[in-house]
Amino acid sequence: NTLIERHEAAIDDATAELTLDHWIDGAHAEPASGERFETVDPAAAVPITTVASGTAADIDDAVEAASAAADGEWGDTTARERATLISDWMDVCREHVDELARLESLDVGKPLAFARDEVEGALEFFEYYASVAQASHGEQIPFGTENHVYTREEPYGVAGQILPWNYPLSLAGWKVGAALAAGNTVVAKPSEQAPCTITRLAQLSADILPDGVFNVVNGFGEDAGAPLTEHSGVDKLSFTGSVPVGQQVMKAAADDVTPVTLELGGKSPYVVFPDADLEAAAETAAAGIYYNTGQSCDACSRILVHEDVADEFTDLFLDAADYWEPGDPLVDGTTMGPLTFADQYEKVDDYVEIGQEEGATLLAGGEPPAAEALEEGWFYEPTVFGDVDNDSRLAQEEIFGPVQCLITFESYEEAIELANDVPYGLASGVATQDASLAHRAAADIEAGSVWINEYHGGGVGIPFGGYKQSGIGRECARETLGEYTQTKAINVAL
Ligand code: NAD
Repeated sequence: NTLIERHEAAIDDATAELTLDHWIDGAHAEPASGERFETVDPAAAVPITTVASGTAADIDDAVEAASAAADGEWGDTTARERATLISDWMDVCREHVDELARLESLDVGKPLAFARDEVEGALEFFEYYASVAQASHGEQIPFGTENHVYTREEPYGVAGQILPWNYPLSLAGWKVGAALAAGNTVVAKPSEQAPCTITRLAQLSADILPDGVFNVVNGFGEDAGAPLTEHSGVDKLSFTGSVPVGQQVMKAAADDVTPVTLELGGKSPYVVFPDADLEAAAETAAAGIYYNTGQSCDACSRILVHEDVADEFTDLFLDAADYWEPGDPLVDGTTMGPLTFADQYEKVDDYVEIGQEEGATLLAGGEPPAAEALEEGWFYEPTVFGDVDNDSRLAQEEIFGPVQCLITFESYEEAIELANDVPYGLASGVATQDASLAHRAAADIEAGSVWINEYHGGGVGIPFGGYKQSGIGRECARETLGEYTQTKAINVAL
């Protein structure tokens, strides 16, 4: 099997000098428990390397280091000084883009070219936040002639950040970048499914950031994540992941009334009105679900299409889905890698069965690809269901895989009702050539992002976050710095 040979060689190359311990107080740290776990390449189903398995003792060490750094040198830096350090760190990271992209691709299975885009995008976020922080300041508030009133925006101190596995380094850029630029120190807990690149990012800060500013504790959610959420030395929590774990994080935060930012799941609609450019809409909606093998929080996983154009759109969508073909992530031109781990594969396959039991029509996919070279990895064909009922589990629950649901509507009112009839509200898309209809729908849809005649258009400076159960707070934008600072009002009697 040439795929396995190619991956084993790439793993040997990538791990020759790689040690995945924790990173605490500016140095490698062995796990207190002495335990390590394997991280696995999902395309070849072979282990990449072993990783330190964190427990409460490691979290204690990391929070202590982060507190000391927040109270010390880092706490005294200006935004300008932090921006210079972050920029120097990003210069080092830029020399390692190929290495980071290859590691990301091996660790989570995304095509190498997409991994490279992700790494470069992540580095941009660090520099963006650092520049915005330099332009941020408090206010002077008019309050009569007897007083001088002004505000200061102060960092919380230690930010505890828990990350998922679907865009590991992007989300590190979104979170770590904002917390540090605003003057906090960080203890990050990467997903056990994606520990490689965030740990490398921390290692690459060794000669630049003061010790204790950016710490990484690897490990599992219950063992390492939960102690971070419960730690009284953590002043701010930020979590990206599933709704059930987000609820647990919020409950743990309540004990010390620790502020939380939550970026959770989605079941985002893509609404196709009858006047849309149907071919463009089909291509956009296919990319919206199949990019990253459907493992995107903001994937458009429900297409709502007007009944008059449903047949034509369905044919166009099935054609567009063909572009997304499972293949070796290390080979140029591959559009879709495997699911990131075995349980994800099982989950997707279970939902395909559930969909059929619920009476939806399987129009494409619903199984792993036939290619022999792909048989060891967790690959899955792009899958399309027609005749889906919006009340069914297929339409209500986040599958997090390459499964699209087609649902029809008769009127504008019904389209909006269906779009909003899920517990989530992360993202959405609208396809129409009628500008006023587009803006009306954008106002009526309950979601943090609305893309009109496109999907997944984002980037530095554009707020991203959820309505309803999709979360609390916004990342990627100016206001994100506010998630990591608190306002102090100072009133001076003149
Ligand atoms: P998950 O909730 O299973 O895990 C997320 C992180 O939480 C991991 O690091 C995990 O180890 C940790 N964790 C697990 N149990 C914990 C506990 N009891 N206490 C503390 N930490 C714990 O999510 P996942 O499977 O890694 O990621 C997929 C989910 O993330 C999807 O629901 C997706 O929609 C969501 N997501 C949201 C965004 C966004 O910006 N809104 C972005 C990416 C992913």
